[in-house]
Amino acid sequence: MREQALAGRVALVTGAARGIGRATAEALADLGASVAIVDQLGDAASATAAKIADSRGVRTAAAAADVTDHAACQKALEAVEAKLGPVTILVNNAGIMPQQVKPHHEQPIANFDRMLAVHLGGAANFSHLCLPAMRETGFGRIVNLSSVLGLGGAPHRLGYVAAKTGMNGLTRGLALENARYGITVNAIAPGYIYTDVLKGRAEEGLLDYALLAERTPVGRWGRPDEVARVIAFLAHPDSGFVTGVVWPVDGGFSMRGDPGEDIGPRPAGMP
Ligand code: NAP
Repeated sequence: MREQALAGRVALVTGAARGIGRATAEALADLGASVAIVDQLGDAASATAAKIADSRGVRTAAAAADVTDHAACQKALEAVEAKLGPVTILVNNAGIMPQQVKPHHEQPIANFDRMLAVHLGGAANFSHLCLPAMRETGFGRIVNLSSVLGLGGAPHRLGYVAAKTGMNGLTRGLALENARYGITVNAIAPGYIYTDVLKGRAEEGLLDYALLAERTPVGRWGRPDEVARVIAFLAHPDSGFVTGVVWPVDGGFSMRGDPGEDIGPRPAGMP
């Protein structure tokens, strides 16, 4: 990819205080974009923004907002745009992991509602707010975080599966609505990525690192920067002929149909 290809452009990444969102903000800054870190963790968002400004020499902004709250998102966007200018790259990344791993009927219905509100509602809110400036500019890139669990099904985390599956529909609908206006809308479907939150779950025994690494054809979990680089490609001006796609970044997890045949030894060590 051309270096500094995003210079002069403003990117907003939700849930970017840490994890895949932070790695994405770093990857976009590496291409010269000004980056806005929006997260419900206000202090962590500010710390990430300051670190990226120092390490990459780009302009950054930070704003605290719960992405489920349209008014709070609007306030955050106004603050970001007052500092950096119109946002034309939006990454809808903010997300939560399933609060409980149980059959749907054994969980409070509030778990399901919250999953849809954060993932789907958050993406709908920020897309709603950012699309007018993208249309006016004649350039826009929206990248939504789906999941391999939104490509197939998975038991005991219905809200998450439904939200990520919905994210794919939201992506295609927005892609079609905006394709004639220089705006692309795509989704990334990560497999198991070794972020702090999933590392914590593995350490607590809630996820089995080795089992999921074995289930993944490349034999390991992914790293946040490996997802971030694909998002940066979709944010790039040269990617204008790719829209409405749900792109697995999963080490082959989603295409594996065999019942678990031995395909060779796994690489040693964690990602
Ligand atoms: P993460 O490390 O937990 O980062 C997510 C960030 O979003 C956190 O800072 C979180 O704050 C914030 N957030 C949560 N709810 C929010 C809200 N309502 N408003 C604003 N910010 C909010 O997660 P990650 O692993 O990087 O995942 C990022 C995205 O990728 C998510 O959409 C996730 O579903 C998706 N994904 C991840 C994986 C994976 O293996 N890691 C796989 C597939 C898809 P709190 O810490 O306060 O919650």
